[in-house]
Amino acid sequence: MKRLLTFFLLLGLIAYIGFPAIERNSLNHPVSEKKNPFVGIQQAWNNQFLPGIQQLASQLQIPLQNLQFSQLMQQISQDVQMLPGVQNANQNVPVDQRLQVKAGDSNVSVRTVADVQKEINQYSIPTLEKSVTNPFQTNVEIVLFSQPATYRHALISAGVDVKNAHLMMQETGGVAFGNTVFIPLYQTNSQVEMVNILTHELTHVSIQQLGIANQLPIWLNEGLAWQEGFNAEQLADPFEVRMQQKEIAQSIRTAYQENRLLPLSADEQDILHANYNVEYQDYLAVTYLEQRFGSAKFDQFLNRLHQSKWEALLHSDPTNSYKQTYQTFESVFGVSFQMFEKDFLQNLTK
Ligand SMILES: [Zn+2]
Repeated sequence: MKRLLTFFLLLGLIAYIGFPAIERNSLNHPVSEKKNPFVGIQQAWNNQFLPGIQQLASQLQIPLQNLQFSQLMQQISQDVQMLPGVQNANQNVPVDQRLQVKAGDSNVSVRTVADVQKEINQYSIPTLEKSVTNPFQTNVEIVLFSQPATYRHALISAGVDVKNAHLMMQETGGVAFGNTVFIPLYQTNSQVEMVNILTHELTHVSIQQLGIANQLPIWLNEGLAWQEGFNAEQLADPFEVRMQQKEIAQSIRTAYQENRLLPLSADEQDILHANYNVEYQDYLAVTYLEQRFGSAKFDQFLNRLHQSKWEALLHSDPTNSYKQTYQTFESVFGVSFQMFEKDFLQNLTK
């Protein structure tokens, strides 16, 4: 279906297209002030905090050069929220008040903003709360855009380069940058689609707030976001979900039979240039992983990643090979990632 294709294409690349631009802004590679909105904070960081941290790091023998500035800032701001004093201040704030929906341009009506807020409260939050006890620790902003021009402008302001902004303007259904979600309303055809997209993007935000985003390879992050998107959609329209899932499974089976499937470890550029929707494959892989080993094991795996989040951050992996994550994978599931992938592919044709 055309709708499926336009809606689902690149729904999630998002979190990844945005981040490379920001992550490139590492301590070793300062970027120009015009391009990067974070540069002011980074300068403040370099001047005020870095010397102290460097001294501390040398005492602790931490390989500081591996730290990505933006990752560290995100992590620190989240962990500060978890401190007892701060948490007490937030204790009585219901989760839906942490999610604020805003109009990104003057053509987004008050009514539309209210409708989206309602969908989040009715479908996205109950879905995410089933998987995570506190899905949102800090405030989240959801910004709606009525037209490509305003969406594109916002993407560029957020640090996306002009070429990617143009592609995303045409082909994405939503974007998550840290604690902010952008939704281009003109890409969405129905309420169920909107429920799926909102929940998908909010899953990326929640993963990020939990501090495990850097440990999750693309296929796991996207697979989880798809799962939650469908879980929420299931509440709104179970029949539609069944149709979509059938179609997804068929499209991936066909790609496999025609030898077009990329490995699950494919990077953003491979995914951008693939001739099928790689995120469908990610979704099927995560679903298969959970079915084969059970939800308890799957939760245990995510919990182990969560427990080692600080360690993972300090030893951040510049090659993105997710070595530690796959070691945890093997120790929890008792099978290597390579073996799992082989098994997943063989199972596709069954
Ligand atoms: Zn996604």
